[in-house]
Amino acid sequence: MNKFAQLDRKFVWHPFTQMRDWFKREPVVIASGQGAVLRDVKGREYLDANSSIWTNLHGHNHPKLNSAISRQLKKIAHSSALGFANEPASLLAEKLVRAANPKPEIRNPKLAKVFFSDDGSTAMEVALKLAYEFTRRTRGAKSRPKFLALDGAYHGDTVGAVSAGHIDLFHKSYAGLLFKTDKVMSPYCYRCPFNRAKPERDDARKYRKCNWECVGLVEKKFADQKRKGNAYAAFVFEPLMQGSAGMIPQPDGWLRQVTSIARDHGALLIADEVMTGFGRTGFVGADVRRLISKPRRKLEPPHVGCYESLFACQHEGVQPDFLCVAKGMTGGYLPMAATLTTQKVFDAFLGGYGEFKTFFHGHSFTGNQLGAAAAAISLEMLQAEKSVRQRTQLQKNLHNELRSLWSLPNVGDVRQVGLVAGIELVKNWRTREAFDLRERAGIRVCEAMARRGVLTRPIGNVIVLMPPYCTTPAQTRKMVSVVREAVQEVFD
Ligand code: PMP
Repeated sequence: MNKFAQLDRKFVWHPFTQMRDWFKREPVVIASGQGAVLRDVKGREYLDANSSIWTNLHGHNHPKLNSAISRQLKKIAHSSALGFANEPASLLAEKLVRAANPKPEIRNPKLAKVFFSDDGSTAMEVALKLAYEFTRRTRGAKSRPKFLALDGAYHGDTVGAVSAGHIDLFHKSYAGLLFKTDKVMSPYCYRCPFNRAKPERDDARKYRKCNWECVGLVEKKFADQKRKGNAYAAFVFEPLMQGSAGMIPQPDGWLRQVTSIARDHGALLIADEVMTGFGRTGFVGADVRRLISKPRRKLEPPHVGCYESLFACQHEGVQPDFLCVAKGMTGGYLPMAATLTTQKVFDAFLGGYGEFKTFFHGHSFTGNQLGAAAAAISLEMLQAEKSVRQRTQLQKNLHNELRSLWSLPNVGDVRQVGLVAGIELVKNWRTREAFDLRERAGIRVCEAMARRGVLTRPIGNVIVLMPPYCTTPAQTRKMVSVVREAVQEVFD
């Protein structure tokens, strides 16, 4: 075992990892990366099929990102936002506000202010605290603002974010530490108790029509809570696709309907775009067709969707009161996050010093210059024609390749939203019987994939493919064919 693996074993405690299992095999020690490829200390290459836990956008070791960071490094790496402004953070805030308000005609609510923090959990923590305090200031200091989130929600690991989460496996043991939030059914069509949405290969006649029962349940939840005299302060959701819940896509129109119900009941909208932000959810149909059929056409921002779809909410014309972003914000280079909110929320915290209306929250690295420099260049790259075309092509390639997985008996569902795919493993595709987590089905498939040079991490029984945007057609093909071989190796 090499020196770094030995040191790791001796000293490092890995996140979300059963360390006893970790000790059973030699870890892959990453030494470098280029584009969609990671290289370990032994010189072995792997495809980074989950963009290094959903963070990397443009590929590793990207010359533009590298030089933006080194340019900034020659000036200063970090100075505090507690008391001082800095160049890259102020430039980035303007760019984020522009990207978050793509259509000037949508003014209400306009996202106007940016609160920087360090990662997805802190971005959510900021949104929850702001929404809580804003509600108390508008409804009265005695009010007890309550949040509604989705079943299976995951919004991070800090205590506030965990409180808004609803994955028993991760969250239950901390129940005593948390504030209570309610949950409502999420639109997990593959396991819908009402209609059993049909998987692609099955006979449509066997399935009942969807009557949006899940939307009805959201409506009921809001109405019941209002009747109790304490209408929900905010609705917390991941738009278009719930990530850690198991890559669960929302059917077209679901987000629009439930957010409009929430608004009708006076709730604020907290959109967690930590996973879905910065182009991850791809392009809507018309844009994709246009881009693919006329590849040489000059792309002008409002028409092509490069602004329109940088954030998942925008696909459904939803403008939240809080937009939380992290992960891909710096292109996946540095830990930095942001919570965008409205002027109205901001104004509620204004007052004379002695009124103590200040938002008493902040981290040492808030507004860090290196992160901000990387994020600003990453955003520029995302809005450039080259990246728009790359993402469109990758979305299409992924879609075409994934089709080949439907023939595997242990693949129950194949779900894709833009550049994210979840492949749900089952004991039998006809019955949809799930593997017990103790069978480690997802882990075993990912281990077999790693042996074939493709790295990703499962969510329970769901294999995640979320490649960097620079992934080539040949690399996409390899990722999917390795999933196929690994599933066959493990279950045949
Ligand atoms: N929200 C979502 C939707 C996430 O997927 C994650 C991380 N997987 C988080 C929040 C927490 O982000 P972080 O790990 O950067 O704290």
